[in-house]
Amino acid sequence: MNEARNVTTRQFRRHDAFLLSVIIPCFNEEEVLAATYARVVDVLGGQHFGLQMIFVNDGSSDSTGDILARMATEDPRVKVITLSRNFGHQPAVSAGLANADGAAIAIIDADLQDPPRVVLDMLEQWYNGFDVVYGVRAKRKESIIKRACYAGFYRLFRWIASIDAPLNAGDFSLIDKSVLDVINNLPEKGRFFRGLRAWVGYSQIGVVYERDPRAAGVTKYPFSKLLKLAADGIFNFSTMPLRIVFVLGLSISVLSFLSLVMVIVFNIFDVPLLGRRFSDVQGFTSILLTMLVLGGIQLICIGILGEYIGRIYQEVKGRPYFVVKDVRDGEQSPPRAP
Ligand code: UDP
Ligand code: MG
Repeated sequence: MNEARNVTTRQFRRHDAFLLSVIIPCFNEEEVLAATYARVVDVLGGQHFGLQMIFVNDGSSDSTGDILARMATEDPRVKVITLSRNFGHQPAVSAGLANADGAAIAIIDADLQDPPRVVLDMLEQWYNGFDVVYGVRAKRKESIIKRACYAGFYRLFRWIASIDAPLNAGDFSLIDKSVLDVINNLPEKGRFFRGLRAWVGYSQIGVVYERDPRAAGVTKYPFSKLLKLAADGIFNFSTMPLRIVFVLGLSISVLSFLSLVMVIVFNIFDVPLLGRRFSDVQGFTSILLTMLVLGGIQLICIGILGEYIGRIYQEVKGRPYFVVKDVRDGEQSPPRAP
């Protein structure tokens, strides 16, 4: 019933005026910003809907800030959120979400890898009543190792987090205002947007697109940051690793207990095992190996516990996940806190 109501509203909206907010996180993107702005305006400006471009300057150290300031002065559709330092891609997206005013909100990369024309396809689905329209990458133009890592991660994430997160979908998406409100009102600090977007539910659909290569500049996501993103995804969305550790501990304990019983029985009856008797002195290698293996497993378990405790600590401290230093837009609206 809810969906039916949405469909009618959207069909009305299709011919009606509404505001589309496009969130563009930027970290040292001076080489590509002008092209990105031009493409977004070219494709999404001058339509029957209004356009708001929200550039989030995530502590850039190049001339990104100056370029954005100029854009904001020249074009009232541009809103610039300047963070107080580099907080990372996910917090930058969150800052954009917290300051978006549109009825539909799109999130794209600053490097034109997510083609703005696909946003028009996403809007079509939004008119059809879908609240979340995410981009699905048709094929990745990346190295085979990176592709294998992505494929492995998305499958692991779906299994471990028990949410129906689509495979091969990044942050490129379009969400309805109602979904934006839910996400903005979540109290948690550790944010993994594509996970939260799958978690909120509502009616969701994917739009397949070809991801272009970066228009200019270099990637701001080295492998180490990708690993951190993957760890955030898994540890923020699931306690499954703790359960795996528990099952592992339990299995080892049961096996150890059975071995103990076996050793005692073999000892009492002085029966040979694999041709040797327990009364012979032996077993240095096996003891050493057992200790090393068990020691390793214990350290892994402590590490997993540490991950969760660290995250609990971050959440309990309650620090904001980004700090807005300045907001500039046509209407000079005040910055919104996370
Ligand atoms: N980005 C950001 N803060 C960061 C790293 C990246 O705002 O600390 C932005 C970056 O400017 C780009 C988007 O996040 O708009 C995705 O980064 P990038 O294109 O470098 O990642 P890739 O597409 O190579 O995975
Ligand atoms: Mg990119």
